[in-house]
Parts: sequence; structure tokens; C-alpha cells
Amino acid sequence: MTTITDSDLVGRGAREGGRLFREWFDGLSRAAAEDRGAAYVFVMGSLAELLRTFDLPIVFPEITSLQTAVRKVADEYLSLAEDHGFSPDVCGYVKADYALQVRGGQHPMGRIPKPAIAVLTNACNTYMKWGEIWERLHGTPVFTLDVPGSRAMPEPGGPNPGDFERDRRYVQDQIEELIAFLERLTGRRFDIDRLRETLRLTNDMGRSWRRALELNRATPAVFDAMLEGTIYLGVANALRGTAEGARYFTDLVAELEHKAANGLSPLVDREERHRLIFVGVPCYPIFRRFYQLFAEWGGVFVSSTYTWFASGGLNDPYEYDIERPLESLAEGVLRGVTRAGDAMLFHDRPLLESIDEFRADGVVYHPIKSCRTVSTGLADSRRVVLDQRDVLCLYIESDMMDKRVVSEAQLKNRIDAFFEGLDSRRIRREAAGA
Ligand code: SF4
Repeated sequence: MTTITDSDLVGRGAREGGRLFREWFDGLSRAAAEDRGAAYVFVMGSLAELLRTFDLPIVFPEITSLQTAVRKVADEYLSLAEDHGFSPDVCGYVKADYALQVRGGQHPMGRIPKPAIAVLTNACNTYMKWGEIWERLHGTPVFTLDVPGSRAMPEPGGPNPGDFERDRRYVQDQIEELIAFLERLTGRRFDIDRLRETLRLTNDMGRSWRRALELNRATPAVFDAMLEGTIYLGVANALRGTAEGARYFTDLVAELEHKAANGLSPLVDREERHRLIFVGVPCYPIFRRFYQLFAEWGGVFVSSTYTWFASGGLNDPYEYDIERPLESLAEGVLRGVTRAGDAMLFHDRPLLESIDEFRADGVVYHPIKSCRTVSTGLADSRRVVLDQRDVLCLYIESDMMDKRVVSEAQLKNRIDAFFEGLDSRRIRREAAGA
């Protein structure tokens, strides 16, 4: 009989996440070598469950782009795009992907196949301009799914219940058009039973994803939502609707429950001193160092808005009804994309709730040059949070791709000052308590 030891279990999510991610890139490289076109999709409204039923390799250009920054070669890609006329303030993901296309798909983790179809939503206006680039470069057909955004939070049973059903029906009609298009593109018949299966697997994954997020309410927290959280997010997107992805998250929950039961923190060599919430997208050009700047002070990110808006709606407790697959897929996309937009643009209310639920004592805002979509309004959000909760907030600017606007020394100064403030507040409180 094999016994699972503590060292097998602790850290397994990060190790296995890395392995699955490499396998995903290997699969894409094989597809490129066989000249198979891929479906290019985005994390907000990927429709991965549907695309998998047509056996299309799935490329997430946001993920392939950010990996160039994590692998420290993004500047080569950004420079090439800028040499070809892109402005420095265009989204870095777009520019890295443009350069990748010009370089025949060459990527530090393998080779990315060309797009046979691009499926976008209107969750970010950049998605639509991005799709036009593939259209121009490769003649790629682009399918844009128009998902209505929040007006008065239409919900079943909400103030205007008819709105929700009309929106859902509108999304479903477009999904049916997409299915007809995919049948023509691939020469395959749509198989509704396969869709039921991929939806079921996403349901399993979503249940575990939410449990993992919930487990971080433990003290100490069981994972860092910016560091490990980003690895988990990568798997949640790349393997959505697959058996490996669902199994990965079942195993992850087992690991995190074990850590919660045994008081095991993600900080290996120091105690958790401050519980933080991260707002925005991480600084990938110095990803590990960026994390350390907080960890060195005993700061742990117990939650992150990234795990809300980039999880494709998995943080919402909605589950697909596999007896009504198309209706339910449309509802899932509607809810996921609307909630993702709200999590980026109107996050102050869930942020206040998270501060309470996770007992956070600090909020770190990280607006980035490349992405106005996630950076707009963060200064206002900080004002609301400072007004309504007794926390300290840090506001630091850099980028998720472009190391030219990342100053490690400046970041360190600001982060150190933030923790000095948190530490002295903690000492004052402990003294008052004593
Ligand atoms: S602008 Fe922001 S949300 Fe839009 S594609 Fe770029 S990084 Fe993603």
C-alpha cells in the first residue's frame, strides 16, 4: 500500500500545476508541428467546454503572453511589436502575441499553433481589436459573443427577472450560431453528450475551486493568492472542462484541507504577520521577487481580485444543469462574463466583504500601465475601502509585461514603508490589548 506523506502532499498543487501546464504547452507544440489550427479564446468567457467537443486545441493568448514575461523574454516580443508600429501603451499581452505570430508561434515553452478560429467576448474592448490582428495576419474567422453587462444586476428573481431570461436567450442564440459555424469549420457534427460531459467536469472543477478559495480564510492562510493562486488559475483556465483539470482541483482541495487542519502556512521560514488582499494583475516581469517583497515581511495574500475576474466565473456558485446543456452554458457565460466585468469595475462591495471574511489588515492595489480595464477606478476604490474599513492600503504602479516600467527599488521602498505602518499598528494594538 502506498502512503501519502506530508511532503508528498504539501506543495503538490504547485508541482502538479507546473507539470500540467508544461504538458498543455507540449500539446500545443504538437498541434503546431502537425499544422493543426487552434481555437484562440480569452479567460473571460472562453467557451472551452463547447470548443473541446470539436477537439480543437485551445490557446489562451493572455496566458501564452504572460508566460513570456514570467520566462523573462517579454521585452524581445514587446520590442518587435513596437518596431512594427505598436504604441508603448498598448496592452502588453497583445503586443507579445503579435510578435509571437510574426515569429511563427515561437514561444519559450514551445510553439503555439496558428488560430483556426478566434472566439471573443466583449468583456474587454481590447479583445475585439486583438481579433482583428489575427484576421489581418492569418485570415482567421473571428466570432464575437456579445454578452450584456450589468445594468441593475439582472438575476433570476431579481428586480426585473425578465431581463435575465432575455439576456440568457440572447447569449444562447449566439452560441447556437457558433455551433453551426464550428460544424462547418471542422466538418464534425456537434455532440451534445460530449458537451454534457465537459460541463460536468467544469462543475466538479468549480466546486473545488470555490472550496480552495474558502479554505484560505484559515489562519494561517493555506496558500498565497497571488503566487500559488496564479498557478491554480492557469490550470483552471487551460484545463477547464477536462478530467485532468477536475482531478487536479480535487487533489488540491485535499492538500489545502490538510494544511488548514495542521496550521501550515505558505510561508516556510516565518510566521504570517499580515493578511493582505491583492487587487489587479501581478507583476510578471519580476514575479517571484514581487511575491518575496511581501513575504519577507510576513505578508500573505489571502485573497486576490484576479482569482475572481480571471477564473472564467468559477468563483460564482453557479453549476451547469447538464439536462439543459445549451441553456445552462448560456447562463454560465452570461453570469461569468458579467461577474468578471463587475469584479474589475465595481469591486468595492465584494472587496469590503472579503476584508471581513478573510480578516485582512491590508489591501494592495497594483494598477498597471498596459491594462486600463483592470486599472481604471482603483484610486476611487481605495478611497471607499479606507473610508469604510480599518485597513491600510498600498497603491503601487508597474506593469504585468513591460519591465521598462518596473522599478524594483521603488516598489521595495513603498512596500517596506507599508509594512512598517502595518507593523507599528499591530504593535500599538497588541500593547492596547495587553
Ligand atoms: S487590456 Fe487588460 S483585460 Fe484587456 S486583454 Fe489586455 S490585459 Fe486583458
